[in-house]
Amino acid sequence: MTSKTPATVYGYPRQGQDRELKRAVEGYWKGRVGADALRETARDLRRTNWQQLADTGITELPTGDFSYYDHVLDTSVMVGAIPARHRAAVDADALDGYFAMARGTQEVAPLEMTKWFDTNYHYLVPELGPDTVFTADSSRQVAEFEEARTLGHRARPVLVGPVTYLLLAKPAPEVAAGFDPLALLDRLLPVYARVLADLRAAGAEWVQLDEPALVQDRTPAELNAAARAYRVLGGAADRPKLLVASYFDRLGEALPVLAKAPVDGLALDFTGAAAANLDALAAVGGLPGKRLVAGVVDGRNIWINDLEKSLGTLGTLLGLAGSVDVAASCSLLHVPLDASAERDVDPQVRRWLAFARQKTAEVATLARGLARGTDAITAELAANRADLASRANSSLAHDPAVRARTAAVTDADGRRSQPYARRAAAQRARLGLPLLPTTTIGSFPQTGELRTARADLRAGRTDTAGYEDRIRAEIREVLAFQEKAGLDVLVHGEPERADMVQYFAEQLTGYLATQHGWVQSYGTRYVRPPVLAGDVSRPDPMTVRWTTYAQSQTAKPVKGMLTGPVTMLAWSFVRDDQPLADTARQVALALRDEVDDLEAAGTPVIQVDEPALRETLPLRGADRAAYLDWATEAFRLTTGGVRPDTQIHTHMCYAEFGDIVGAIGDLDADVISLEAARSHMQVADELSGAGYPREVGPGVWDIHSPRIPSVDEAAALLHRGLGAIAAERLWVNPDCGLKTRAWPETRSSLENLVEAARRVRGEVGAGGA
Ligand code: GLN
Ligand code: ZN
Repeated sequence: MTSKTPATVYGYPRQGQDRELKRAVEGYWKGRVGADALRETARDLRRTNWQQLADTGITELPTGDFSYYDHVLDTSVMVGAIPARHRAAVDADALDGYFAMARGTQEVAPLEMTKWFDTNYHYLVPELGPDTVFTADSSRQVAEFEEARTLGHRARPVLVGPVTYLLLAKPAPEVAAGFDPLALLDRLLPVYARVLADLRAAGAEWVQLDEPALVQDRTPAELNAAARAYRVLGGAADRPKLLVASYFDRLGEALPVLAKAPVDGLALDFTGAAAANLDALAAVGGLPGKRLVAGVVDGRNIWINDLEKSLGTLGTLLGLAGSVDVAASCSLLHVPLDASAERDVDPQVRRWLAFARQKTAEVATLARGLARGTDAITAELAANRADLASRANSSLAHDPAVRARTAAVTDADGRRSQPYARRAAAQRARLGLPLLPTTTIGSFPQTGELRTARADLRAGRTDTAGYEDRIRAEIREVLAFQEKAGLDVLVHGEPERADMVQYFAEQLTGYLATQHGWVQSYGTRYVRPPVLAGDVSRPDPMTVRWTTYAQSQTAKPVKGMLTGPVTMLAWSFVRDDQPLADTARQVALALRDEVDDLEAAGTPVIQVDEPALRETLPLRGADRAAYLDWATEAFRLTTGGVRPDTQIHTHMCYAEFGDIVGAIGDLDADVISLEAARSHMQVADELSGAGYPREVGPGVWDIHSPRIPSVDEAAALLHRGLGAIAAERLWVNPDCGLKTRAWPETRSSLENLVEAARRVRGEVGAGGA
């Protein structure tokens, strides 16, 4: 029987209350902050975080979760996986070399960056090959552990586990295809054993190894690799006690593997779909004599915990392991720091919010309740009950009009009134576009001037009228350029949107904005996702006046631009008190109103962006069909009400689309533009292979790079696209929006793109198409 239940977390937001880390790191890059000052800032932030955790009642702190840029990159440094092209920079100066790997330099490209599982955090992808030689460098891990201990804290170093590290890696660019990084496991394990021994020698009793990759569908070979890894590490001499952690979903077939492994404890997620871990754990007979760290406080969302429900789960778990710790389900890196800083949020609503600080307090409260009985936390339970009830009964979360409308939705609402062939003919007649029509994805460069105008508006230096004049002037300029360049379907350029999701969230009922709710996206880039707290509706048109203003300035068709329902959910903190499908349907209906208003105002082409559709795909294959069902339904509900001669576009990027071509078809959009330049139009082959029947614009300009594609290059890509998609169905466009690009490269690139389209049109025409 435990007399004292430990409370722990796996990681904490790194940036500090005022994003001090961002300022220090960016200052260092610009040469304004010295290396010592940067290190000092980092030490201060760690000290503050640890103190905050300890003061709240966290009994064992994480170390090694802090990072100047990214913890997967830190792991690459720890195991010596430095790509050859970064070697010189790393040897010259470890810190500058580290940033060279993260960001590249004038001479060398950085490591590739991609999303950490289904979060919006991006990690730097390890690059490995058959010649990779691993070497242990435990210095940073040991130093941070000692730093915490010197401050009087009980700490547990947290490392990315070896199996997850290899499963997240990819073959280095020079390595022959087919190389599987997991083949390096036996080479990597001795390096991990060395690091573990060093931490043990420094006094670490426990070390945590994070293996979130094991919550994804894994082959028997991969599961065997996991078994081998922990047999080897568990069998090593001089090792600390090992805690293997998983999160973001259920472990499934990996659970028995880890339960049998000769390690001393497991940390499991018991929130959301991962709650299935509970029955699975019981089914394998629990973890007798071992430590179970129970992630019962959701580390991904920003809602308060149901403490009584968690205590119930914890009570069951007590019977399944030697000891139970209370924890958040994953690192708190994915939530903002402190909800109490949100002075602008209605205090009534603020009580529903739990950011990292509040979640830490929940973990500590639960640990106390578990150790000493609910009598020890009577006040906390009463307050929690009241807060939950206030949320459950609030009118923000339950708008009868929204409820009635979503309940009345029928399949017909999500179906265009005519089949594609008829629509295509009507649209052709209305738009009169040439073969291989040219367009862009929506945004044009967000210049410093525009950002200044927005800052002036916020600070009261300009009034709304002055700001809007500025926006109209920008729209005129963007249109004039597109006319001159010869583009066929024009856009207004989205100058009024700093962040598109935020732009729409601000105008929809049911969303809240935060002031300080920063979450690390990558490196020093932080985002402030809006909070989707209540029932969603659209009180007033959101984009119509900008689009109609643009259309009034040109005879060419102007495309209206909206962000789709799935992306509006994916890039927000979404309410957890109803199925995502229901929330998506509400957002879809609100956006449908905007689509219908755009159409009524004469907009002939409307694009509904869904860049997040692919990334929100559930980690487990078994959950994907249900997700794609509601996601595509929400898109169709948004766009299904328009006339046959209104052309619906959609756009997707940041992903490989091979595994969702079926869903792309189900959207029933008339035209889809996709990121494709880097993968040499591969997506065109994938779509045509799947029999995709509608129009497609695979990007011919990689806008993530400042490089200007030549006419030849764009024309060559178009020819590749024509190999898969008939000329009558092929569009010509960049990979994505241009807001991050500068004007000079935008001008030249689009001029080249239009020229390439003209040339290929001539060639196709000559061929008699
Ligand atoms: N229309 C948006 C833009 O052009 C699309 C953004 C995106 O796909 N991420 O910026
Ligand atoms: Zn895009």
